Amino acid sequence: MIVIMKHTHTENDILNARKIMEDGGVNVMISKGAETTILGAEGNADYIDTERLTVLPGVEKVMRVSEPFKKANRKYHPDNTKIKVGEVFIGGKDISLIAGPCSVESEEQIVGIAENVKRMGATALRGGAYKPRTSPYAFQGLKENGIELLIEAKEKTGLPIVTEIMSTDNLDLFEEKVDVIQVGARNMQNFDLLKHLGQSKKPILLKRGLSSTIEEWLMSAEYIMAGGNNNVILCERGIRTFETFTRNTLDLSAVLAVKNLSHLPVVVDPSHACGKAWMVERMAMAAVVSGADGLIIEVHNDPAHALCDGAQSITPKQFEELKGKLTPLAQCIGKNIM
Ligand code: PEP
Ligand code: MN
Repeated sequence: MIVIMKHTHTENDILNARKIMEDGGVNVMISKGAETTILGAEGNADYIDTERLTVLPGVEKVMRVSEPFKKANRKYHPDNTKIKVGEVFIGGKDISLIAGPCSVESEEQIVGIAENVKRMGATALRGGAYKPRTSPYAFQGLKENGIELLIEAKEKTGLPIVTEIMSTDNLDLFEEKVDVIQVGARNMQNFDLLKHLGQSKKPILLKRGLSSTIEEWLMSAEYIMAGGNNNVILCERGIRTFETFTRNTLDLSAVLAVKNLSHLPVVVDPSHACGKAWMVERMAMAAVVSGADGLIIEVHNDPAHALCDGAQSITPKQFEELKGKLTPLAQCIGKNIM
């Protein structure tokens, strides 16, 4: 349930409305936006005395919210959420470019790529240290050493680091050392992990599950937010369909859907979505036009020899060309590429 306050409401009106809601057994989330102030009920709103609420001075409207996600819901929080990552905000007028290899492989590799993508305008560095691989025999990542190398790349370039967490065992390490904690597609419904990340102070990049609906994805964001961490960045990375030509199917309509349903920022990962380097540029361009708040792109100095996801990785030079093509498209829709 949400309570929309009149423009003329006083602080006392808010206190009165809040009291009635709390007496009904819910927590109250207050969103003071540019246009309106909204009181949102968290929890079961069935026992709230709506009749008393409706007649309170200062109350414009009382509305039931049918969607199961509340904190992530735009009805509860009409203004876009902007999340600070390094020097920039994700979710505003600026489109952020997160770039880097699928996996951290060596000091030379990660520092070299970081320096290149920084020069070309990336706002954050990605790189997996703990890798979720289909085969137990495939490269599993450099783990803690990979995190140290990411930090070295950050120290050399100033780029904040985005990397995937796979287990609650590593929560303290990530909390201390990582700027944005990525939850991979395979862990989108690892509810235990999500609950722990609700206690984190770090922004969480939440990838859409391989076969998850938009509602399931937003409910996973809700798990993190219910724990108190509102800094969730959603990431559309393609979903499983019957199609096998591409690695996944990039669901750009999900960007529009999620921007409509939620106030959270959404970034698009064209690399995992199509799985083919030659498709990344056009899919990235389409993602910008669809209204994405950012892109996360796999960039490798030597894709042919990458230890993971080389086929979908573009080179730093291709990344630079791509950035040049994104700039006028962003301007067309009233945004900027950082
Ligand atoms: C990745 O970002 O390298 C990754 C494993 O992505 P996803 O979880 O989307 O498959
Ligand atoms: Mn990858």
